[in-house]
Amino acid sequence: MNIAIVGMGISGLLTSLHLLLNNHVDTVTIYEKKYKEFLPRKHCTGLVSKETLARIPYADKFIKNSYSYVEISTVEGLDVVLMFNKGSIYRIDRVSHEKFVVDIISDKGVTVKYGENVVGVEKFGDRYRVLGKDIHNELFDVVVISEGYPPRISKSVGLEAVYKPLKGIQADVELSKKLKYEQIETLCIYLGVDSDGFAWFVPGSDRRAVVGVAVKNTPSSYLKLAIKLFEKKLGLDVEEIVDIYGGVVLRGYPKKVVVERVLGIGDAVAMVKSLSGGGLYAISIASRIYGENIHRLGIAEKEVELLIRELKNQYMLFKLVSRTLRIRSGYQKKRKIVLDIDESRLYDNHVEVLIEFLKKPHILLKFFV
Ligand SMILES: Cc1cc2nc3c(=O)[nH]c(=O)nc-3n(C[C@H](O)[C@H](O)[C@H](O)COP(=O)(O)OP(=O)(O)OC[C@H]3O[C@@H](n4cnc5c(N)ncnc54)[C@H](O)[C@@H]3O)c2cc1C
Repeated sequence: MNIAIVGMGISGLLTSLHLLLNNHVDTVTIYEKKYKEFLPRKHCTGLVSKETLARIPYADKFIKNSYSYVEISTVEGLDVVLMFNKGSIYRIDRVSHEKFVVDIISDKGVTVKYGENVVGVEKFGDRYRVLGKDIHNELFDVVVISEGYPPRISKSVGLEAVYKPLKGIQADVELSKKLKYEQIETLCIYLGVDSDGFAWFVPGSDRRAVVGVAVKNTPSSYLKLAIKLFEKKLGLDVEEIVDIYGGVVLRGYPKKVVVERVLGIGDAVAMVKSLSGGGLYAISIASRIYGENIHRLGIAEKEVELLIRELKNQYMLFKLVSRTLRIRSGYQKKRKIVLDIDESRLYDNHVEVLIEFLKKPHILLKFFV
């Protein structure tokens, strides 16, 4: 089998790693529109659960930090602290990890064609032709679309997703004083910085952190607001902004990820956890399903269906939570709710976290009263 992959972000890279282990695959060719010197791009915070980390090949070599608490606040003064077991959440150095994977797949015979912008995929007999200015008559048995956002080729071949893009921007910041021990272990999130947007504070070393926002419009002004919110909340000062970068943060879920022998993965088909916009959880699962089952697409389609259902539930949950918070925002009293979560996998399974929440009526009461 000859496989084409359109786009060499983390989705394309992990899919090709898993394809290399599949005995039915003869060649893997990646078409990437950017030139080599502009890749990998810095855009993602790199937060993953312990389980997702274990599913991403070589990610454990690039761990920067680990966290045990997630503190979710609203601008109106509600604080929900989720207490996980130690070492439940990790931050990986995404750029170094991607560089490492590019070297591995190139060494193992994957052909990477840089600077090749794919403009379409068309059926040619019972195979597929990938179309582009410098691409001549290359035929493939299966095509994987991992083009990220916006989903141009995905749409043209009939892949479908529900999605709402937010503008994401992040700053690496230097703090004027050291973070306290518990602060280094805590990820902070503010919901509602604009109507549906959110902000995050991710501690790095004791004086470094990342502040990010995902909002509908004017992300740079919301970034300034987020820095002020976190300075006040954590009692610290941002001394210097060291770097600023960003991308698109999606909310949504895939609807159709297999059309005949064309498969979609990652941001191209909105494979994201809608509360956080995190893509690595779903990409780590789907890439393995595709890699192991590319020669039996019926099985791949069935297995990926479970993931799609989970992501759709998470999207519905996100809508419920944002509506509830709007109701709750009428209450001006400050509230702090602490929920013991224990299991690291619940960092990815938001619906189960809500169930944990609902199981404790005294906590639920505190939310509204
Ligand atoms: C600010 C920010 C913070 C984030 N933080 C987290 C986090 O902490 N945890 C988490 O899990 N997720 C996070 N995410 C989401 C995560 O980064 C994405 O879900 C993930 O990177 C998507 O990868 P991808 O490979 O699907 O798409 P991309 O990374 O967008 O890769 C697509 C590739 O395809 C190429 N391409 C596009 N069109 C064509 C074409 N026509 N022909 C050839 N090549 C093409 C592009 O050049 C690109 O290289 C964050 C995102 C942002 C923006």
